[in-house]
Amino acid sequence: LDQITTVDPTVAGGIVQELTDQRSNVKLIASENFSSLAVQLAQGNLFTDKYAEGAPGHRFYAGCDNVDTIEAHAAGLARQLFGAEHAYVQPHSGIDANLVAFLSILATRVESGIIEKFGRKNASALTDAEWAELRREVLDQKLLGMDYYSGGHLTHGYRFNVSARLFDARSYTVDPETKLLDLDAVRAQVREVRPLILLAGYSAYTRLIDFAALREIADEVGAVLMVDMAHFAGLVAGKVFTGDHDPVAHAHVVTSTTHKTLRGPRGGMVLCTSEFADAVDKGCPTVLGGPLPHAIAAKAVAFTEALEPSFASYAANVVENARTLAAELQQRKVEVLTGGTDNHIVLVDVAASYGLTGRQAESALRSVGLTLNRNSLPFDANGPWYTSGLRLGTPAVTTLGMGADQIAEIADVIATVLAAVTTDGSSKAKFALDSAVAAEARTRTSDLLRDFP
Ligand code: PLP
Repeated sequence: LDQITTVDPTVAGGIVQELTDQRSNVKLIASENFSSLAVQLAQGNLFTDKYAEGAPGHRFYAGCDNVDTIEAHAAGLARQLFGAEHAYVQPHSGIDANLVAFLSILATRVESGIIEKFGRKNASALTDAEWAELRREVLDQKLLGMDYYSGGHLTHGYRFNVSARLFDARSYTVDPETKLLDLDAVRAQVREVRPLILLAGYSAYTRLIDFAALREIADEVGAVLMVDMAHFAGLVAGKVFTGDHDPVAHAHVVTSTTHKTLRGPRGGMVLCTSEFADAVDKGCPTVLGGPLPHAIAAKAVAFTEALEPSFASYAANVVENARTLAAELQQRKVEVLTGGTDNHIVLVDVAASYGLTGRQAESALRSVGLTLNRNSLPFDANGPWYTSGLRLGTPAVTTLGMGADQIAEIADVIATVLAAVTTDGSSKAKFALDSAVAAEARTRTSDLLRDFP
């Protein structure tokens, strides 16, 4: 820190402030965690100075031997951890991983057929007219993903995302009554749409998904099953999601982040069957900028940590804590979507429970030291900015070592604070919070953090 202070005190101050913030607020953001010091140190080093476009053993730059070693090591660990045929560890984030996956599926299943039809070796040998035909075919391909309001991610075909501009994007939703995925309805939609890609995975869904059944559904129409496990990769690595619920065992292509439940550095990766391996390895430079070798080094450290038996206990505790949180909230008359959870996420309907928007609830809770985020609920009348829900997650508090007693305390603080919020109906953002309740809640969250630094 002294070095940074000498060069740029503003940055040094920001780092200290962030440390203070993370130590004085309970982190309940479902997509966040605390990475280990080993992960952080592996990420902050001289590997940042190296260019390494290409893949191990096939670089567009000289002097990549050490990057080759680190990247091949990280990919090998990822294959071992998830039982994957192939792993690509360069994506800088989850969105980048999805872009690599989309392009490699298009290249493998669509473009290669067109190039072959014209008797060319590769796309650069196509005439302009042939290239125009390839572009038309590509833009005609359908992507069928989970609707944003049902819990899917923006990259799963949301209208304003690049995924909806790359594909003719369609979506499936949860059942309006049960808020659960209905695989019979998905099957019927797949038969009708006949997508190139059937995309599963979520940012805000709390129940198990039968990936074996989804693979059967995809196979019926020759679709590629892609699963975005960005949120729950740690639960797959920790063997909480096994058998039919293990995406890597059933999907053609699996994408992920490395920084959520998996507890690694901020980043992404793609796992796939050997059919897609060559195209996936061309992620850089076709979709991605130069690799971040320092981030890849930190991914390797995180994969090694996740291979330890203690990581399986951690993953099991994450889910146990989320179940406890859902049950404790429900006991306090808070409406929990689907009545519980099977993963690390709990979704709460604050509009139904308290007549609040997600934005009001998020701000009120943050003011007493609970950091969590508002979230759209299925068919949300309050839209994606104000929302009607909260998304709570247990990965970070579980890393701190919290268990059932602390989770019950957190649930009680949440219910007490939200019951003390009032609004005058003039705005979806403004609210008032009883000051005595706020002060007591702030003391309770500080006490929790004092015991779990
Ligand atoms: N996919 C899913 C399911 C996500 O929830 C997220 C992030 O929240 C992403 C992809 C994007 O990850 P990143 O922010 O690393 O690009």
